[in-house]
Amino acid sequence: MTTSPGAPPSYADTPTLLVKIFGKDRPGITAGLFETLAAFAVEVVDIEQLVTRGRITLCALVTAPGPAEDSGAAQGTASEGELRATVHGWAESMGLEAEIISGRGDNEPRGTGRSHVTVLGQPLTAGSTATIAASITATGGNIDRIFRLAKYPVTAVEFDVSGAETPMLRTALALEASKHGVDIAVVASGLQRRAQRLVVMDVDSTLIQDEVIELFAAHAGCEDEVAEVTARAMRGELDFEQSLHARVALLEGLDVSVVDKVRKDVRLTPGARTLVRTLKRLGYQVGIVSGGFTQVTDALQDELGLDFAAANTLEVVEGKLTGRVTGDIVDREGKARLLRRFASEAGVPLAQTVAIGDGANDLGMLNAAGLGVAFNAKPVVREAAHTAVNVPFLDTVLYLLGVTREEVEAADCTGEDEVAEDGGPVREGAEAGRPSGEG
Ligand SMILES: [Mg+2]
Repeated sequence: MTTSPGAPPSYADTPTLLVKIFGKDRPGITAGLFETLAAFAVEVVDIEQLVTRGRITLCALVTAPGPAEDSGAAQGTASEGELRATVHGWAESMGLEAEIISGRGDNEPRGTGRSHVTVLGQPLTAGSTATIAASITATGGNIDRIFRLAKYPVTAVEFDVSGAETPMLRTALALEASKHGVDIAVVASGLQRRAQRLVVMDVDSTLIQDEVIELFAAHAGCEDEVAEVTARAMRGELDFEQSLHARVALLEGLDVSVVDKVRKDVRLTPGARTLVRTLKRLGYQVGIVSGGFTQVTDALQDELGLDFAAANTLEVVEGKLTGRVTGDIVDREGKARLLRRFASEAGVPLAQTVAIGDGANDLGMLNAAGLGVAFNAKPVVREAAHTAVNVPFLDTVLYLLGVTREEVEAADCTGEDEVAEDGGPVREGAEAGRPSGEG
């Protein structure tokens, strides 16, 4: 190794040894290997260790022993041959396999163009993993590291990739994702991913499982009429604002007490509480924007401890809904505008925002955000968003941000409950075999 005062050590021209240990894991292997190496006064350049189903793989990159121009007194006498024999002897005594490879210098530096590729599978098959890996290679990317983020409620795996441009990788992998029924998110690597961010969510069919206008319609006995307007909007005969006015008009004369009933009907999407609670613990700010109504979103904001909320407001006169909405309409452009406003109030650059939504009126904010996540969305929304989640668990969005299930559960165990606890008035669904209480 060569050093100059104040400079970091450089191993560029130094003979180094890669020592790889593999076998049944048990306490003391790491300490044992390094105690064995310590007798040769080598320096540690790099270490990687992982344990998969009780099998340990431990790799240590160390300087080779032996005479070196600037080696310390303890170094210089032992030979590489002695080190090899001693390490192999120790490994054999532990029932482990050892491999020692001579070389020079540190690891090759990672290429530029670094991305995190998160894959969510339910299940994740060997076939889809093979195609994803091949696709990464085809874009010129190199997989530097792979690890599992979560095994529940989906299998989530992250590939750290270098050497490929993030947008190119995203396009290539989006194609594979749709072919293989997995969700793949590609985000650029860097400090930005760890920086404090803002998450803004749509409400109907995103944060909650319901469409709030349909809950009102059920109480007003006009579900069919509302469904017909919705169908006309989907056929393109009405735009969002026209369909909102037409549907709200059907609620005219409804007693305002229905608002409380609708609030009680609202079912949170599975994982919604976990997502919000974890984001808040990470220092994120969280907001909701809805083409629905403040009469419901205000309650959700209080209940979940959200930083921002905006929606349309149903006009109430003398205790009755008038069939009109007041104020600015929250539509596709409105949602994008609100995302920008929340970001500016939160002091978060747009590039560090995440937007989540399922509908065509979410596309503006999904595109404006640093990361737009289409959540169980229609194909047109899925194709236009940066990434899509097609499993019905909102907390899987955490994996796209690089948060592991272990981290989520560890935070829950420490009881840091500054955010509303589970079991509040708004119920969170427990579909798809998800154990109740797992929020
Ligand atoms: Mg929606």
